[in-house]
Amino acid sequence: MSFELLKKLCSTPAVPGREDVFRNVVIDELKDHCDEMYTDAIGNCFFRKKGKGSNPRKIMIAAHMDEIAFIVRYINKDGFVYFQPLGGFDPRVLIAQRVKVYGKQTLDGIIGIKPTHFTTPEERNKVTPLEDLFIDLGLPAAEVKALVQIGDCITMERELIRMGNFYTGKTLDDRVGMYVMIEAFKAMKQSDDDIYAVATVQEEVGVRGAKAASFGLAPDIGIALDITIAADIPDVKEHNWCVVMGDGVGIKIMDSYSISHFGLVQHLRTLAEKHSVQYQMEVLPKGGTDAGGMQLSRGGIPVATLSIPCRYTHTVAESVHKDDVTACIELTRLFMENSADFVV
Ligand SMILES: [Zn+2]
Repeated sequence: MSFELLKKLCSTPAVPGREDVFRNVVIDELKDHCDEMYTDAIGNCFFRKKGKGSNPRKIMIAAHMDEIAFIVRYINKDGFVYFQPLGGFDPRVLIAQRVKVYGKQTLDGIIGIKPTHFTTPEERNKVTPLEDLFIDLGLPAAEVKALVQIGDCITMERELIRMGNFYTGKTLDDRVGMYVMIEAFKAMKQSDDDIYAVATVQEEVGVRGAKAASFGLAPDIGIALDITIAADIPDVKEHNWCVVMGDGVGIKIMDSYSISHFGLVQHLRTLAEKHSVQYQMEVLPKGGTDAGGMQLSRGGIPVATLSIPCRYTHTVAESVHKDDVTACIELTRLFMENSADFVV
């Protein structure tokens, strides 16, 4: 486990549609571990390891590069910056947080709030809508306008740390999935099939990159690597927990974007049991992964998702359990090496 690599992935910005800086980090990690590498027109990046079989199929493993983030929508006369969210932010968790604004130079900012002393009792119980939240850059309006333009990228700011058995910070969705893909791809020995590790774009705005990548590649099988909701916390009834932290990699049966191919799910389960990889079965009522995009391309692709349970998803307190990360790397590697055992 390389905490330093995970930390680097979490701290490198990738706003949906602007994944170029992050993509270079992935390229640096994987360029010496593949037989071929290319990027498509919208920025998806493909790393191919050639299969040893006589008739290799194409296996697409996908992890998304982008994070939930913002772009600058408006700058007011006093230099306060209003923003457009890209992805599913909860306005409750944004107040008083630090951000980075990528203008002509990278600027620190905070999402402002009216002091509690000046709020009415009604205001205190109400969540400010996202469109009314603003960023304070601590600079005069003229300077803000000289450095920042509409469309500039904004990301949340929070350093990844170890906390007990967890890693916690921002963007573990889906940097931990990317980390799993990188480690499994590096560790895999050989497969009869061609394995394509694909770093996708624009997942958080509706699995857009995966759709294009899957159409272009025309894989025979698709596996997405992503976090899933671990709701095993006080206030959530046990039957709604979905998955439990520390109980292993999630083998997804369904979410609201895809129903995993039944045979593929069985294959993954058998593989986990055979090699004593800790796993849990996952049914997620809401949310989706790149599997949803891959599944519907061309004439239909059999897909599944391997999930890393994550608490406090889509906040800067996203948390994953170290053992679940290890289990996900292990099952992904085993699947890559043994993909030929699964026949649709
Ligand atoms: Zn994700």
